[in-house]
Amino acid sequence: MEEIYMKGFVGRRAWCSEKVHLKSYFEKYSDTLCEVANKRISEIDILQQFVPQSNQLSQEELFKLIDIMTGEQLTTLLDEDVLKKKIISSKKNTKPSTSSVADEANPSSSFSKGSYQWQRQDRLRSDKFQVVRREVVLDATEKVGPKNLLPNRDFMVSFRIHDPFSHTVGDNSRPGSCSQQINVLGQQFLTALKDKIVCESDFQDTRGDVSEQPDAPVTLRARELYESSMFYFDNTFYIDTRNNENVDYSKTIKEWGTKRGILFGGTKQMERTLVEDLEIRFGYPYLYLHQGCCEHVVIINDARLLTPKDSLFGFDYPLMTKVSHKNLIHCMTCSRFPAKWIVRGSDRLAHDPTYQCKTCFKLLHYKNGKKIGKFTAYQYWQRSTIL
Ligand SMILES: [Zn+2]
Ligand SMILES: [Zn+2]
Repeated sequence: MEEIYMKGFVGRRAWCSEKVHLKSYFEKYSDTLCEVANKRISEIDILQQFVPQSNQLSQEELFKLIDIMTGEQLTTLLDEDVLKKKIISSKKNTKPSTSSVADEANPSSSFSKGSYQWQRQDRLRSDKFQVVRREVVLDATEKVGPKNLLPNRDFMVSFRIHDPFSHTVGDNSRPGSCSQQINVLGQQFLTALKDKIVCESDFQDTRGDVSEQPDAPVTLRARELYESSMFYFDNTFYIDTRNNENVDYSKTIKEWGTKRGILFGGTKQMERTLVEDLEIRFGYPYLYLHQGCCEHVVIINDARLLTPKDSLFGFDYPLMTKVSHKNLIHCMTCSRFPAKWIVRGSDRLAHDPTYQCKTCFKLLHYKNGKKIGKFTAYQYWQRSTIL
């Protein structure tokens, strides 16, 4: 499969790293760090170890090179204070004046004020149905249980889970926005990652139309009924077989591939595969499939040794570090509250289907607790209201 994705795109897929076997890489890296700490190897020794050509340089040239390579060179030219001042001044410049003095002095200011209000109204109008996508950084560490992780020895891998999206062939195809970033320890199984992924399709009510008894509690959600899921890393399928009744999604894909001459790798058990055993490319689009057809692009964007500043409590992992506010669907009647119901075939509503909040749904379709009119109703759980 990688042959197809990378074929002819060597330059354009430059953001994908070379393949890295996580366990062997970090063992070697950790050993090197210990060696440096124990033997106190000089910077010149390290440089000559990793850049053999540096043997040909003179002592003066070596020191000059070390100065250039120092970590301080990585600091930004703008320190924090300067940056803050720049942000404040830019805000002042963009904010329109509302004083009458300013209006008199500058005839065009009324236009800019109107333009500003229009932009604000336009923004509010667009926010009515959609919340602006943005990532929220979380610090969800609870620091409970045994402190059993070692800095500079244990490592974590950062997975970014993207929303499902409609793929089209060509350059216009864009992956869905990243919905979660999850840090998983190398020593954890892939099932730990799977159990941390929150997708709204897992939370939907499986009863279907509940218009007769809208207040009856949900008894069975989709994730409890359909537990099957699969990761696809490095041309190998990893399926969840914790439940004997789970479906092997890889079987159908392999059959499809055989008919088209595409060779897929083997199938392994998710609950028996450690994250550190993966051989992956950073920046490469991998896959998480669940609920039969809900496909999420999974991108590994970072992996690093734990430091003393990280949580060293094993129970804190997998750790969700970022979450995005997915577009929130509001009630189509009041445009104020998040939609909680999907109503179909209602003779009281203009749209089919119609998204409604709890209040509007009850006010329009029930009298004294009894259903009035003809319609079907389905509970709708949005990820933004679950998280
Ligand atoms: Zn999903
Ligand atoms: Zn409403």
